Amino acid sequence: MIHVTKTTLPTLNEYTHYLERVWSSGQITNNGSLCRELTEHLKTYLELKNLELVSNGTLAIQLAIKALAIKGEVITTPYSYVATTSSILWEGCEPIFVDINNHNFCINPDLIEAAITEKTSAILATHVYGYPCDVIKIQQIADKYQLKVIYDAAHAFGVRVAGKSILQYGDCSTLSFHATKLFHTAEGGAIICKDADVTKRIFLMKKFGHIGEDDYLDIGINAKMSELHAAMGLCILPKVNDIIAYRKECSGWYDTQLEGCFLQRPIAPADFTYNYAYYPVIFPTHEIMMRVRQTLLDNGIGPRRYFHPSLNTLPFLKTELKRACPISEDIALRVLCLPLYVGLSKVDVKVICDLIKRTLRSESE
Ligand SMILES: *Cc1c(COP(=O)(O)O)cnc(C)c1O
Repeated sequence: MIHVTKTTLPTLNEYTHYLERVWSSGQITNNGSLCRELTEHLKTYLELKNLELVSNGTLAIQLAIKALAIKGEVITTPYSYVATTSSILWEGCEPIFVDINNHNFCINPDLIEAAITEKTSAILATHVYGYPCDVIKIQQIADKYQLKVIYDAAHAFGVRVAGKSILQYGDCSTLSFHATKLFHTAEGGAIICKDADVTKRIFLMKKFGHIGEDDYLDIGINAKMSELHAAMGLCILPKVNDIIAYRKECSGWYDTQLEGCFLQRPIAPADFTYNYAYYPVIFPTHEIMMRVRQTLLDNGIGPRRYFHPSLNTLPFLKTELKRACPISEDIALRVLCLPLYVGLSKVDVKVICDLIKRTLRSESE
């Protein structure tokens, strides 16, 4: 079976090299030397000042909401993984959905102002598939209405715009290091903050607000990364450039094979360095997408409906929160992410594309 993604693993030797350090220190969690080292290496790699590791990408969003003291209504995208919306709800806030652009599937900044009320305190948007939101326009709106900005950057590890890390925008950006992501620690994540004080607050909050013997300075939770997870990150980080390069090559094979099929793809902005996190394609209709999906499944290939359903239609939302987002709902019904990972061969890509083309041809007959 070819799945949408496959975790990049280090050799067992590479991993045990770091485990030997853990065993000799005896410290397997609580900000040990591997976590500290991974933090520094990530700051260097991503060219960032303020970064806190956490135990997953969902807690990263929740902690960012908490640390920025966000309350009330949060303007957000309906086109993302469920964690973006559920984190808002989990923190006792209300997600106010604003539809996406048709060209990059990120939140449409021109629709944000109309959704702002006196209860709005923040914008939480996703750089979906690693394609950047319009960070400049969003910041202008945030400044005008004094809103906080959080980017769910779970897909945007290593993405740059105009020579700058996309993670430098907003008050906070959150990363997921889940096993399915491009850079991973099995489970894990990080929060990047503009402000050093917010970073300090998150450093405290992720360990119960507890410092020293028995000082409890802030409300906290347990969102620490363990040394065993940091060890995985230290193994994978040196491979990240090769991982991105392989995925780029693989995406190129898809581009060539699918040329002339008239399948919609996200459009990248100018002066953009992509990380090739996903290979989404939008089919002409929901029926065609479902037929292609079935053909691929019948042949042992598992594409994924990233992202479906459109989050404004989640069953557990109050009716008044289920605002129509026609573009997001439409794209969610027609999208498939094709397999993309290190080790997927050119032959695999050809097989997948031949199956897609065969299905599309039989559609048009
Ligand atoms: C993966 C993902 C998350 C959740 O991250 P976890 O580390 O699995 O908790 C959040 N948002 C988006 C957009 C994601 O893709």
